[in-house]
Amino acid sequence: MKNYVSLKEIQTDILARNTSCYKLVEGYLDNIAQQSDINAFIEVYKSEALEQAIEIDKKIKNRTAGKLAGLIVGIKDNICYKNHHSSAASKMLRGFKSTYSATVVDRLIEEDAIILGRLNCDEFAMGSSNEKSIYGPTKNPINKLYVPGGSSGASAAAVRANFCQLALGTDTGGSIRQPAAFCGVIGLKPTYGLVSRHGLIAFASSFDQIGPLAKSIDDIRIVMNVISGIDEYDSTCIGKKMDLEEIDNDKQKTFAVFKEALNFSGLNKSVKTKFKQTITKLEEKGHIIKYIDLPLLEHLVPTYYILTTAEASSNLSRYDGIKYGYQTKSKSIDELISISRTEGFGKEVQRRILLGTYVLSAGYYDAYYTKAQKIRSLIQSQVKSILSENNYILIPTTPNLPFKIGQKNTNPTQLYYEDVFTVMANLSGHPAVSFPVGEVENGFSASAQLIGEFFSESDLLSCAKKIINN
Ligand code: GLN
Repeated sequence: MKNYVSLKEIQTDILARNTSCYKLVEGYLDNIAQQSDINAFIEVYKSEALEQAIEIDKKIKNRTAGKLAGLIVGIKDNICYKNHHSSAASKMLRGFKSTYSATVVDRLIEEDAIILGRLNCDEFAMGSSNEKSIYGPTKNPINKLYVPGGSSGASAAAVRANFCQLALGTDTGGSIRQPAAFCGVIGLKPTYGLVSRHGLIAFASSFDQIGPLAKSIDDIRIVMNVISGIDEYDSTCIGKKMDLEEIDNDKQKTFAVFKEALNFSGLNKSVKTKFKQTITKLEEKGHIIKYIDLPLLEHLVPTYYILTTAEASSNLSRYDGIKYGYQTKSKSIDELISISRTEGFGKEVQRRILLGTYVLSAGYYDAYYTKAQKIRSLIQSQVKSILSENNYILIPTTPNLPFKIGQKNTNPTQLYYEDVFTVMANLSGHPAVSFPVGEVENGFSASAQLIGEFFSESDLLSCAKKIINN
């Protein structure tokens, strides 16, 4: 089956009768079956998707189809879909069926997108390699010995392997952008509050955002137009619906680049080279690059892990083995709760619950949690001030290229440092889009992210598109 770059191409082909929704679904199902070892889709809704395809093909004929007709989507396993399983790749939620759909899922379906199935991820979206899942690791389609990144690793892998046209992932500290980078696709972490979190299995509520991974900026934009905007079920969702406009201007722009990021000791050489080439191209186009200091860079990862584990320990306290989810057999209620949680949660999730409970405990609250909150507001005000003097921040997405499955399994903090360039946008709430800036080795690409003002996605995506096309 053709590997379409954008939905526009698909819709043109459908209108020219070169393909149909039905054929597309069949094609993706074929691709998934042929490379099932990638382990991206943990469940496909085969007959349902084919039935929907027939319906939508009829609508296209009658000219009553929605904006997303022809778009076949995969959703991360922490996004709920009514009457379907959602497990956040955890034993704790194995067998759980949601009684309602996430707002994003409802909105996609209203515009005639087809949900093909659910995608693997790190348990409760905690991880950077998609290795920590009850379904086993997902492989990177570029080279199957390597991780696809995480936690939305399978979302990126599925897009890259042409298992679906677009995937939804979630980004708490980089989980859309880092796997997008590892698989050479595009990923957007929207402004906090632009996309509803209703129906998302919570990890760290003041950080989590749902966003798209795709092969083109156009697809990211079209889907954002549909899923973004105020939702009565999520009071933190305050952003207006994104409008279709693509902003096309060649005005001179200023890009802030952090000296600490460029000189970061763990920055891979080829990533650095490609990043510098991107900067040179921007300068050649007449844009201004300002090299600025961000001494806080070394505090970003610790701050992120204190705050997100604190929120996770609170959010995950709902899994008590009683209301829903995994339940062990025991006669005592205390034991039932404790053993259900011990058996239901994986090691990394338990580690974070422990850490989060510790930083929230009476004796340590001020030393860790309050301090981290203070650093968070400092970061927020610094990013705001940088963006008041510059149009964008440009930063590599990841310090490293993909690593081999199993290679970084032993030391959790080593993996935490993979997030050094991504967590800033979640700490501050700003939107960030990651896109490839050139192939480096073994088919892997280096990627960069562009960070912009709150709710400036229209502009941010237009700028990213220009950089990609240059
Ligand atoms: N790698 C980060 C973590 O493990 C990011 C996770 C995410 O964005 N969901 O916390």
